[in-house]
Order: sequence, then structure tokens, then C-alpha cells
Amino acid sequence: MAALGTKLRAFEYDMVMFYCPGCDEAHTIRARTDAVNAPRPSWTFNGNGDAPTFTPSILVTGMQTIKDANGEWTGEWVRDADGKGVKGICHSFVTDGRIQFLTDCTHALAGQTVDLPDYPGDE
Ligand SMILES: [Zn+2]
Repeated sequence: MAALGTKLRAFEYDMVMFYCPGCDEAHTIRARTDAVNAPRPSWTFNGNGDAPTFTPSILVTGMQTIKDANGEWTGEWVRDADGKGVKGICHSFVTDGRIQFLTDCTHALAGQTVDLPDYPGDE
């Protein structure tokens, strides 16, 4: 993977990763500065890896995972009292290097806007 500014990693032709501080993990989207004729779904990207803007909003859904102290998935899922997996929602707007979490997020940063962190490590 190649660094794309301080905030992003890029791979293949148009796949872009950013580190989500709400989920404590990377999210990957297809993002192009010219989204015309791009496969769906894809996001429009301002091309700035230091202060990215993606449109429209980014909705990530899945089952909530349990992570260890290093942020690595333990292989376990968050479960409710009946032992069923708990759904997670992360819904955000990334604008000028900041991430606005909408109120339907299930994580602790719901309703907040924070700086998008620098992409961690040299992965
Ligand atoms: Zn997230």
C-alpha cells in the first residue's frame, strides 16, 4: 500500500483507506477525483491526502468486534444478553481532513466532529 498524504493509504487503482477514530480501525472505500463512469459504489475525492474530502457520506455497517489492547480483532464479536451479535453502524462525512460522525453511529464518537488521524504505522 502506498501512502497518500498523511491521512490515507491507497491501493489498486482507486481504493483508499482512512483510519476511523470512532471504530479504531481502517475503512476502505473506492474514491476518485473523477467519479464519472466509476464502478458503484464510489465516492468523489478531492485528491488531497492531507485534508481529504469524500462525498457523499460513508456508511459502514457490520457486526461489532472485540479488539485487544493493540486494536487487533480478537476473533470475538460483541454479543447481547441472548448471545446474538450486535450490529454496528459508522456513518460519517469526511470533509477537509475532519470526520463528522452522524448521530446514528453506534460508537462513542456519534454526533461529534474530530480531526481525521494520521494513518497509523507503515502498513
Ligand atoms: Zn468508523
